[in-house]
Amino acid sequence: RTVYVNGEYLPETEAKVSIFDRAFLMADGVYEVTSVLDGKLIDFDGHAVRLERSLLELDMGVPLSRDALLEIHRELVRRNDVVDGMIYLQITRGAAADRDFVFPDPEEVPQTVVLFTQSKPGMADSPAAKTGMRVISIEDQRWGRRDIKTVQLLYPSMGKMMAKKAGVDDAWLVENGYVTEGTSNNAYFIKGNTIVTRALSSDILHGITRAAVLRFAREAQMTVEERNFTIEEAQQGDEAFITSASTFVMPVVEIDGVTLGDGKPGPKALRLREIYLEESRKAAI
Ligand code: PLP
Repeated sequence: RTVYVNGEYLPETEAKVSIFDRAFLMADGVYEVTSVLDGKLIDFDGHAVRLERSLLELDMGVPLSRDALLEIHRELVRRNDVVDGMIYLQITRGAAADRDFVFPDPEEVPQTVVLFTQSKPGMADSPAAKTGMRVISIEDQRWGRRDIKTVQLLYPSMGKMMAKKAGVDDAWLVENGYVTEGTSNNAYFIKGNTIVTRALSSDILHGITRAAVLRFAREAQMTVEERNFTIEEAQQGDEAFITSASTFVMPVVEIDGVTLGDGKPGPKALRLREIYLEESRKAAI
């Protein structure tokens, strides 16, 4: 596999970053995951805009133009013959000579830019979409700036492990009694013709897939309520689902042991998945 590191395309076995890199020592880095379908990028502009915002929120500066980033994404897709899959991009504050809490001078320490691809043939036909996912709820113990897409993913990893130990697929995070989002996705339930999901704030990541799906839902004459909701309210919903760049729209059929509806993926969630895939394929670049 060919990867990109700081301006170079290299075989993955030759790619290196410093042990002093601040992402390695302090999780001082941000990332994006962009899906590839039929060799084309899904929602690239949305991811590029959010990346710039993450960088600016952390005073990191933007090392590459949107066009340059697009070219690197496309070049990696070409070199690795990715038909369906993902591109992972990470930008860190770079490697200062010593470990220090204080940010290094960006003039002296260049950022580290790394991209690699992961092929997932047929990812749009995921069997999980046919059975639906089961989730548990756990306390949201992440930091308070979840709107910045940092590489601090230890708590989400712990959440996935708690889900795995409980024999289910994922966890929904709950803070002060209300669902924030999933460990690596945004969370929703549907009651009647209404989709409910947490409003945007620093409490959740502003999902690129979320923005697109809510737009499609409104276009399909569904009502969208962006507000706080509890696990109990979601359990009483007709359907539930999650969204993310890598899972698109994925139905949820069980929350904390309570089955939703007949335990099968709901028709509205499946329809939104169809619309999302169809429209994103059309808009892919
Ligand atoms: N929320 C969290 C915590 C995430 O990690 C992710 C994606 O990685 C999302 C939501 C979904 O965001 P997107 O649709 O942009 O992939």
